[in-house]
Amino acid sequence: MQLTERQAAILEIVKRNGPITGEQIAEKLSLTRATLRPDMAILTMAGLIEARPRVGYFYSGRSLSRLAAEKLHQMTVGEVKSVPTVVPEQCSVYDAVVTMFIEDVGTLFVVKENGLLEGVVSRKDFLKITIGGHDIHKLPVGVIMTRMPNVVTATVDETVWSAARKLITHEVDALPVVRPVEGVKGALEVIGRFSKTTATRILVEMGEES
Ligand code: ADP
Repeated sequence: MQLTERQAAILEIVKRNGPITGEQIAEKLSLTRATLRPDMAILTMAGLIEARPRVGYFYSGRSLSRLAAEKLHQMTVGEVKSVPTVVPEQCSVYDAVVTMFIEDVGTLFVVKENGLLEGVVSRKDFLKITIGGHDIHKLPVGVIMTRMPNVVTATVDETVWSAARKLITHEVDALPVVRPVEGVKGALEVIGRFSKTTATRILVEMGEES
């Protein structure tokens, strides 16, 4: 969020003099209260200043980067996840590559018939297999995938910050969003996807809000 010159001036006045009334701010800037109203609304909505009835405006103590950080810690994976692209373990490498192109994704989640997570297969796994001289029509993805329990996952309640951090820490492009299956130890149902694209989209949307 980029503040206008006037909004920056108001913020400075509130920082130094708060609590201060709208009337007093207007006076200091030689403007009318009505002129300032939209700016006061923006600064209040952005959380930079707070208004207390009969007291006036005061500085919230939050910087713009702090507010962005707060947002990333509030937003959950469940709010932003996208639809997962899945293939069964017996799916041939050839069919999986075709699926990757058709669905326009870089990572496929490999699941059992009941949608339970078995593994993950990515572009690099397919590139690796081309070096080996295998018959990609016969070779099942189950042979080349990264298998459970080595798959890094996310849950719907997890914060966007936490999931994005996993992408960086584990150097992967996507995480399956999973839900534990009641009564079946270690079983995870795939219900979504959190990828570098998801994280970038959030950044773009936050940029547009400003
Ligand atoms: P790319 O192949 O496009 O570089 P990644 O960096 O995501 O994509 O994948 C690199 C390796 O990590 C591959 O071997 C892949 O199977 C594995 N991988 C991808 N996603 C995950 C994940 N969520 N958890 C564990 N391993 C993963």
